Amino acid sequence: MTHPFLDLAPLSAAHFAAIEDRVARLLSTEQDVVIMQGEALLPLEGAIRAAAGPGTTALNVITGPYGQTFGDWLRDCGATVIDLAVPFHTAVTAAQVRDAFAEHPEIDFVSLVHAEAATGNTNPVAEIGEVVRAHGALFYLDAVASIGAEPVLPDAWGVDLCVIGAQKAMGGPAGVSAVSVSERAWARMAANPGAPRRSYLSLLDWKERWVDGGRKALLHAPAQLEMLALEACVERIEAEGLDAVMRRHALAGAATRAGAVALGGGLEPYVYEAGDAAPVATTLRAPSGVDAGVLVARALAADPVLPLVAGGGALAKEMIRVNHYGPDATPGVVHSCLAALGAAMAESGLTIDLEAARRATTKAWS
Ligand SMILES: *Cc1c(COP(=O)(O)O)cnc(C)c1O
Repeated sequence: MTHPFLDLAPLSAAHFAAIEDRVARLLSTEQDVVIMQGEALLPLEGAIRAAAGPGTTALNVITGPYGQTFGDWLRDCGATVIDLAVPFHTAVTAAQVRDAFAEHPEIDFVSLVHAEAATGNTNPVAEIGEVVRAHGALFYLDAVASIGAEPVLPDAWGVDLCVIGAQKAMGGPAGVSAVSVSERAWARMAANPGAPRRSYLSLLDWKERWVDGGRKALLHAPAQLEMLALEACVERIEAEGLDAVMRRHALAGAATRAGAVALGGGLEPYVYEAGDAAPVATTLRAPSGVDAGVLVARALAADPVLPLVAGGGALAKEMIRVNHYGPDATPGVVHSCLAALGAAMAESGLTIDLEAARRATTKAWS
């Protein structure tokens, strides 16, 4: 008996290349797009290790936990790292990046996270890109949590290395990811003696053996199930229309914020300004004196499939995340999340107004 997951026809190089082309269209990019067979951390780390070395001066923008990780990799590569950290409840501004260049004109690499699902903020990449381009630095962007939820335009914004993953707003698999690479970025890697080669982390291996060879032969057996899932999720986005998918995420974010405030009981948006809030996920601040983890656990006990999670690490007690990713960016899911949180808050003795929350989410959605 044939099994739908196991007995698949081989995935050809041509099919693999066609999936790359589809991902490139999603990014409106003419750059080379390389799909890597692993979670997004694979191209995120591979791109830093390829492009940065002892001669690099990197401006590393920290708006959440991923920025911290990139700084660690950059230092590990021998780069001089200038950290620009902003509070997690806000976004970085282009002016802050401009000031950093004024103080350190030697900066030749900028790493930035577009949207942070972990903190719920999003950064003005287009404006920052203008500053980075004016100084000729290489621009590295983690767009894992923004792709599908808001515009990601590496060519228009001058992004040299743009990493995406399918598991957030794209509603796809976690085991494959992609990076778009500009000509300047390839040149920087080729000139870097420390860039990984003959390694699973190596982007240059893919350049030399896949891209430059006309994408005729794959480097190793493709992650077939994940590739097919990636293709299916891009198809689903194309069928709905990328603009419509992004609009659903923007509405889900606005509705969650409005609903949380209307619910009352001291629940508040974690990111102060709506314009700094990521459309992929809405972070909320638990009422003072109430443990976010306890509230989330209670809400999930009532409905385990809701996309609710307490903040990670140091944020575990104060932050609640509503991950309205992909198919979860709907009025129904947003309302169910707020209703479950409201019930959990009521159990803690807080006064909440579920009807007001429902009216506010409905109004925000219309
Ligand atoms: C989700 C996410 C990733 C991928 O990491 P996972 O924890 O494995 O999902 C990378 N960067 C950012 C900004 C993300 O939000």
